[in-house]
Amino acid sequence: MSSRTPFVAGNWKMNTNKAQAVELARAVARGNVVGVQVGVAPPFVYLDAVGQALAGSSVLLGAQDVYFEKNGAFTGEVSVEMLKDLGVTFCLTGHSERRHVIQEPSELVAKKAAAVYKGGLTLVHCVGEKIEQRDAGQTLAVCQGQLDELDRASITDPGRLVIAYEPVWAIGTGRNATDDQAQEVHAFVRTALGRMWNKDFADRVRIQYGGSMKPENAKGLMSQPDVDGGLIGGASLKADGFLAVCNAGRM
Ligand code: PEP
Repeated sequence: MSSRTPFVAGNWKMNTNKAQAVELARAVARGNVVGVQVGVAPPFVYLDAVGQALAGSSVLLGAQDVYFEKNGAFTGEVSVEMLKDLGVTFCLTGHSERRHVIQEPSELVAKKAAAVYKGGLTLVHCVGEKIEQRDAGQTLAVCQGQLDELDRASITDPGRLVIAYEPVWAIGTGRNATDDQAQEVHAFVRTALGRMWNKDFADRVRIQYGGSMKPENAKGLMSQPDVDGGLIGGASLKADGFLAVCNAGRM
């Protein structure tokens, strides 16, 4: 059994209003999950309220995005320091919706990843292939290219790096990767991290699975040797289902 504490994070995306966000956060905190690190990433505008709702609990507050500059004339953007000011401790980069819907280029993802890590937050860096890339046998090469975005982040602490493997074809589609498909890519990611750093470093990085994870499939996926939790979209919007996923991650 691995010594890595599983990490299950809810990505609320552009959902909830303020009252719903606060209620959902309170319900997740009341769930009092043990043995699994739990986090939620609400919309930016509700970070402060959700942070207050989580006060005193072990649930981590996360951000779905960030800008890489520290401050200045960047209309509409939010810096790492601003996130930290609200109690944020982890931040996503490279989510497939930012890459493929919002058209964020790899160069920008790499700058954001570096800013998150260098700013002292835990970096949750998302990688994953589109269905046509999987069909063309390019899954591992695509993931390697997205891992290479970490090059400029000068990461030394494996505890502050989390990789989320999220096959694009599984996100929000109800079609999750099988346990074996997930494990194959997770093992590849860990080996790749070992090449980029070293084996000891790689063994300490948590690798989450994301893509239609829900209570029915969470146990099977998180029982795989290289799956250390999940990044949960749709199923994180209802406390009961999300807590069931979190508890499925207990060893
Ligand atoms: C996600 O957006 O990170 C995600 C995994 O979404 P879903 O669980 O809805 O597939």
